[in-house]
Amino acid sequence: MTGAMLALVKERPERGATLTKVNIPSIGEDEVLVKIDYASICGTDVHIYVWNEWAQNRIKTPHIMGHEFAGHVAETGRSVRGFKEGDFVSSETHIYCGHCYQCHTGHSEVCQNLQILGVDRAGAFAEYIAVPERVLWKNDQSIPAAWASIQEPMGNALDTVNSEPVAGKTVLVTGAGPIGVLAVGIAKAFGATQLFVTDLSDYRLDLAKSMGADFVLNPSRDDIEGVVREQTHGIGVDVVLEMSGSEKAMHQGLKALTPGGRMSMLGLPERPVTIDLTNEVIFKEIRIYGITGRKIFSTWQTVSRLLASRIVDPSPAITHQLKFEDWQTGMDAMVAGTCGKVVLQIAGR
Ligand code: NAD
Ligand code: ZN
Repeated sequence: MTGAMLALVKERPERGATLTKVNIPSIGEDEVLVKIDYASICGTDVHIYVWNEWAQNRIKTPHIMGHEFAGHVAETGRSVRGFKEGDFVSSETHIYCGHCYQCHTGHSEVCQNLQILGVDRAGAFAEYIAVPERVLWKNDQSIPAAWASIQEPMGNALDTVNSEPVAGKTVLVTGAGPIGVLAVGIAKAFGATQLFVTDLSDYRLDLAKSMGADFVLNPSRDDIEGVVREQTHGIGVDVVLEMSGSEKAMHQGLKALTPGGRMSMLGLPERPVTIDLTNEVIFKEIRIYGITGRKIFSTWQTVSRLLASRIVDPSPAITHQLKFEDWQTGMDAMVAGTCGKVVLQIAGR
């Protein structure tokens, strides 16, 4: 397909982005062109928008950002077999090589030759995107397109929740950003019995509450460890899901965690953090997991089923549904932290 399309482009190496016309991407023979219905804004897009240190070192301008989306197949490359025009799809963001040690041993999410959609190649804040067939995911038709566009971050949340079973466990989520609040809904669905959530923002704690949190706590006011101990008969929580990237939250989580418990870490601290391994981890026999990306595609399968069955209803977490032209409102809310997931409607607006 040729012609022009609307796209949100990072034109210059500085803060900002511009909604402008660019060429519709051409596709390689193993690629699929997708017409995007909805795209949602991720923290990574915010980093690119504000042009932080990471973005300065990683992004080459001009660049189309965005990687969380749902849309319909518009065109398929010559060797594409699994998709046809009109299919309702989303995409895994981690474009793996399929040839390295990690890809061969079931860890393609940490492929050695990983390319990231919307980071290393043109992204989804556009009317069309070109995606390799191997990372394309066929959506369940019964999932609303706006919901389908957030399956990628929901997959992060799912893998963090499920690095070990949570059924019957008490859980503390540190950080009620968009991913933290999705994790609340998921942990509840998988049978967590008591869910504590911390955040510095009361707005976000309210979102966590509407996603099913039993106790929401603000570290600027509440004694996290004290409340957790009081509510768990002095035991502490079995599981901590670290979703803030804050060193303080990590220490609070480790304090609230019962000896023999597990902590799963998704949040990305901007600087190296100091943990007293002897006392905070080893003598407490804590298991720590790092989580990145999603299992391709078993995580997608589970997320899809949770949404299609409505066992997880993510609507309280989607606070903004905006027309593409109103992207700035959504980006400002993301920068300010006064939102959950922000979803942009691109087709049919
Ligand atoms: P976010 O930045 O919107 O949310 C983080 C939340 O943590 C904010 O609401 C903030 O107020 C809160 N917070 C800050 N300090 C806190 C403290 N001391 N105690 C409790 N809460 C605190 O991010 P998000 O989009 O929800 O993502 C969550 C984290 O996961 C981020 O750090 C992000 O970079 C990371 N992430 C990792 C992966 C991965 O693959 N590992 C993927 C996506 C996001
Ligand atoms: Zn690989």
